[in-house]
Amino acid sequence: MDDPVRDDRISQPGGQSDIPVGGTFGMPTAHGAPSCEVCGRRDESLRAIVIPYVFSFVVMTMHRAWSGVYCWRHRFQRLLAAGFITSLFGWWGLPWGLIHTPAALFKLVRGGVVPEDENVELLARVAIHKLNTGEPGKAIQVFQEALRIKEDERTRNSLLELQAKYPLSNELSDGKAPIWYIASWVSASLLGVGVGLLDYLVVLLLNWVLGAETYWIIAILSWAPLIAMLYLGALILSELLRWVFDRTGTDHLLLGMLFAGGAAGLIWYGIPQGQLIGDYLSALFGGLAFESIGDLIMTSGAVITQGGLWFVLDAFESGLPSDWIYLVLWGFAGILYFWLANKTAQEAIHWRVRLELLQGDLRIEEPNSRLPAWSALGGFAFVLLIGFGVFAGRGRLMRGGPDLAANIERGDELYLAGDFEQAEAAYRQAISAAPNQPGPHESLAWVLYSMGDLEGASAEFTQAMELDADWADPHLGMGYIHLSMDNDLAAQESFQTALALAEDPQYAGQAYYGLGNLAHQVDDLDAAIAYYEQAIREDWQLTMAHMDMALAYYSMAKFSRAVEHANDLIGLLPDWGAPHALLAMSYYQLDQPEILMRELDWAADLNSTDLYSQLLLAEAYWGLEQYDAAKEVLESASVLTPENSQVALLLARLYALEGAFGEAQSLIDAQIDLNPDLVDAYIARAWVYIEVPDLGQAESALDQALKLSPEDWGAHNLRSFVYFHQGRIDEAYTEADTAIR
Ligand SMILES: [Zn+2]
Repeated sequence: MDDPVRDDRISQPGGQSDIPVGGTFGMPTAHGAPSCEVCGRRDESLRAIVIPYVFSFVVMTMHRAWSGVYCWRHRFQRLLAAGFITSLFGWWGLPWGLIHTPAALFKLVRGGVVPEDENVELLARVAIHKLNTGEPGKAIQVFQEALRIKEDERTRNSLLELQAKYPLSNELSDGKAPIWYIASWVSASLLGVGVGLLDYLVVLLLNWVLGAETYWIIAILSWAPLIAMLYLGALILSELLRWVFDRTGTDHLLLGMLFAGGAAGLIWYGIPQGQLIGDYLSALFGGLAFESIGDLIMTSGAVITQGGLWFVLDAFESGLPSDWIYLVLWGFAGILYFWLANKTAQEAIHWRVRLELLQGDLRIEEPNSRLPAWSALGGFAFVLLIGFGVFAGRGRLMRGGPDLAANIERGDELYLAGDFEQAEAAYRQAISAAPNQPGPHESLAWVLYSMGDLEGASAEFTQAMELDADWADPHLGMGYIHLSMDNDLAAQESFQTALALAEDPQYAGQAYYGLGNLAHQVDDLDAAIAYYEQAIREDWQLTMAHMDMALAYYSMAKFSRAVEHANDLIGLLPDWGAPHALLAMSYYQLDQPEILMRELDWAADLNSTDLYSQLLLAEAYWGLEQYDAAKEVLESASVLTPENSQVALLLARLYALEGAFGEAQSLIDAQIDLNPDLVDAYIARAWVYIEVPDLGQAESALDQALKLSPEDWGAHNLRSFVYFHQGRIDEAYTEADTAIR
């Protein structure tokens, strides 16, 4: 089934040598000398060439070629077309497509099949034609070109003869102008970027046509255009090098190879660079916002100087199959480019040296004549390095692409502003841009945690952990999740792990704070305080540790210690109402009414809308029996957080104090509807019945609470109170004992 239209000329073994001269190559023409088949041009750039191409369809693989005599321009056009046809359409036939395509591409990368003898012969005929038409200078040029193809005795003799006969026509160009080196390195970078951008656009187009769901199809389809683009880079590289070597006429092998290697590296690096610039441009058009012009300059500078580096590093880390295909192909292209550069440089310089030897190398070499060239290359590399250095900081910040960084930044801002839903969307976008970076998973997890989605948060924390096993933060997050689910042992384990992994004091502080909260939750206040102290020692700025430590001291009736720590906290956060409210509560207990009122007014004036501040302020008013003020604070808190049980239950008890039993009951019922296992709701219900008073109902509410949590101190205490007022003194004592224990 293979090759129904096989092209015999290139398929036979040793295909190069059996191309018949004067047959297929259209020689001789009417004028007796060969010329370009397309445009009739007749100069030293003519070649008899075979340019193979392959295209396949399922089981059919067609193996064809353009062969003929072409000038440089028409040769280049056919090489380009053959490369694109082969790399885009060659692969899709089994099995021959996969075999013939790389073979044809390799021939194309080397500039097609150019049989040596035939071409020396062809150029000799062009040269003779030039002599016959009175252009000895052109004839010399054509013979020189023939020497490039092959070191040939006859060509050398003809050349020596002509040089002797026409001594003025054999000047070798001798401009080692350093500007050519710089110009060609700049164009190498731009060409590489152009190739990368083109590839980016092709994949974008594929995405757009096929839709994002067919991701794996894109992964498969995108490598064919990538190979086409990499081939384009190779073609440009060898033409660029040949052109510059002719312009500069360098005969210094080391300089030439270094220059060629640099150009190969620049085109090669430019390709992923172009990809990232494509990303960046689409982010810009997609409305990527900058804080300032300076920000824009820094970001653009970082993208332009080192975008390729991030692109490659991200591809390494992403683990996506399409990225691996990209890296492997790009790596192959690198090897190919350097090999091609080396080969082109060697050929060009050996040819140049041969020509100079042939002329007896009469020219006197100036000392240090290569210095400008060396310094041009060195200067270019230096400028590149400086640019890299200047933007390096921003570059590191922007790992994973500019839109990733922008989404993370946006997510952080939204999270801080309390807009969890939008923050979640931003982080999810960041994750889709770089699924294997742990950071966005981590941020998303905290947003989900704040939204009460513990399951989702746990999944994201776990993913962040898998991506970066040495990171303390996801373990902290898991600790808090376990804490909210009352998995005390698991919580402890998570916080301990976080502590062991914590590299900087901030994480260590948070791990100790978590352990403190764990101890606080099981009412081990001494342990809680010890942990909070350690947390503060690690990170003095950890305000919540100060707050909870002050609260723990308050709960232990150590009011002056509570005052001390509330004051520390005010030093850190002067505009926060919570510590002032706690101070008011503490001064009430310490019986210092003047300072108490000052702190209470202060807390009210600051008007902090967080739950801590509002609950503490309400409790402070409550303690002073200023029920209306307490009610006002709690009502405004319940508008902000209508589902918070602490606020609702306190408010219910206040309504009961006022005799508004119906409102109190409906608040409690709503909480029980939300969470039938909420022990505090049944205790609050008991408080309401005590106010009614209906001690029987209060008792059954407490029975329910104790069924859910048999060791609840508050419930036992209240049941003792109820028994006492029912006249069941013995039972009341037993309950009080249980409560104390
Ligand atoms: Zn032509």
